[in-house]
Amino acid sequence: MLNKKEQSYFNAIKTYIARLFCVPVGIYPLDHKAFIPMEEGEEILGCCHKLNDDKGDLVGYVITIDEPYIKSCYNGRQAPYSPFSDNQLIETICHEIAHIFVWEHNKEHKNLTNELYDTAIYFLEKK
Ligand SMILES: [Zn+2]
Repeated sequence: MLNKKEQSYFNAIKTYIARLFCVPVGIYPLDHKAFIPMEEGEEILGCCHKLNDDKGDLVGYVITIDEPYIKSCYNGRQAPYSPFSDNQLIETICHEIAHIFVWEHNKEHKNLTNELYDTAIYFLEKK
């Protein structure tokens, strides 16, 4: 579970990005290790989930961001030389948003992620 400060930190960043790009999907914190089957040692920082109706038709998406990772970004940005930062969390969210438009990890997805990320950072610095 995120504590109050981590929750506000995450809400501020995800709301900023969701409003900037008018993202029509929910973005929620989730302890991925507890809910997503994964290989030993594997780490899933963000995940874009397809939502299907009972006929199997795609009806939308939900994005989840790993809770321990959000904690690391929140705490890491206060520590010198930490690999975790606001920008890293922003990039992870942009990566997942890009999956709504390009499902595969290909060049198009990478380019879109970079474009969203650059835009998010650009307007963040203008604020
Ligand atoms: Zn991905």
